[in-house]
Amino acid sequence: MVAGFVNSERVRGCAVFLFRLCKNQYRFGVIAIQVQAAKHSYRVLIGSGILGATAGAVKDVLSPAACAVISDTNVAPRFGDQLQRSLVAAGYEPRLLTVPAGEESKTLERAGDICEQMLSAGLNRQSFVIGLGGGVIGDLSGFVAAIFERGIPHVQVPTTLLAMVDSSIGGKTGVNTGAGKNLIGAFHPPVLVLDDVEVLKKLPRRELNQGFAEIIKHSIIADAKMFRQLEDVDPEKVDFAPLIRENIATKARIVKKDEFERKGERALLNFGHTIGHAIERAAEYRDLVHGEAVSLGIVAASELSMKKAGLPKKDRDRIVDLLRRFGLPIQLRKDFPREKIFDALKFDKKFVRGEVRFVVTTKIGSAELASDVTMDDLRAAVEML
Ligand code: NAD
Repeated sequence: MVAGFVNSERVRGCAVFLFRLCKNQYRFGVIAIQVQAAKHSYRVLIGSGILGATAGAVKDVLSPAACAVISDTNVAPRFGDQLQRSLVAAGYEPRLLTVPAGEESKTLERAGDICEQMLSAGLNRQSFVIGLGGGVIGDLSGFVAAIFERGIPHVQVPTTLLAMVDSSIGGKTGVNTGAGKNLIGAFHPPVLVLDDVEVLKKLPRRELNQGFAEIIKHSIIADAKMFRQLEDVDPEKVDFAPLIRENIATKARIVKKDEFERKGERALLNFGHTIGHAIERAAEYRDLVHGEAVSLGIVAASELSMKKAGLPKKDRDRIVDLLRRFGLPIQLRKDFPREKIFDALKFDKKFVRGEVRFVVTTKIGSAELASDVTMDDLRAAVEML
């Protein structure tokens, strides 16, 4: 499944590579995946305890220079020092810039402020940006890298499961505006992604589960085998590195077909997100985290898929069971303001002249776009929640 544009290799016991990567800090083996973007390909390294060896991997793609390490107030105190020490030892000049943790930091103002700080610190076209954090930091730091001096390289060091399996891959960067999420941004693929699964041990359970919502989504739309493996795995005993690799391969395969989201292929990744985003908006981005809203969106999309795409009921039941097993919500609380969901749906950018391009699944492992889904269909699906 990972042949072709994604070359996956278990790099075990390769002394030279390991020595260059992280000398004695290397522990369990590193998985390397090469992801192809329109203008360049980039390597994703997945391993345990590899954060302290970041510079070794960076050196393969970027010469020593001044760089901005953009992080947030939860992540920087935990992992910032380790990352900076590794960079300094290899001759880089890192400048740590920390923003408040949370979605509120993903704004144009914040991006502009970071650029000003980078200019004041003497960073220039030879510099690069490292994003150390979850999806918020990945999107914000990537956007800064895309606009600073008309574009400098971006290294992603994701620290949430969601960021490792989803947001760090595919090159979408951006910020939110008052009118909605991710409305301003740029396609700016990273030059390197470094996933240290060790950092997931510090991630609160709810944040970890969010990542599983995207993992389950990937398996429903494109990977029936991964879905079956998830059904068999004990949620408390997941071997993260191979799971992250499978997800990156799946997402990269879809993105490769339609990197700039013009042909409808990349839109398949929105499975569960049309209703999920509307639920998030209706909840005013409180109460439910993104992955929980997506989980509810997946339940609703599965309901709609039975009606519009012939999804067998037993597949729908397996999907709901799997979400439940990973601690994700499958029903809205009774007093949730459902009307607000319908109002929010009208804002969705996938609505064109009142019709929505809605992603349905025909069976576990495959998805397609349906154009005959009406607002009444969406209403019925939400009412089932
Ligand atoms: P996040 O970045 O806000 O991280 C969640 C929380 O976990 C934050 O409070 C963060 O400080 C904390 N945290 C991060 N790593 C930690 C660690 N190892 N230990 C302890 N705490 C840690 O949220 P997220 O869920 O990672 O990402 C959501 C964002 O990703 C949204 O803005 C969304 O729009 C974006 N996204 C982008 C893409 C894309 O393709 N670019 C895809 C999906 C989602």
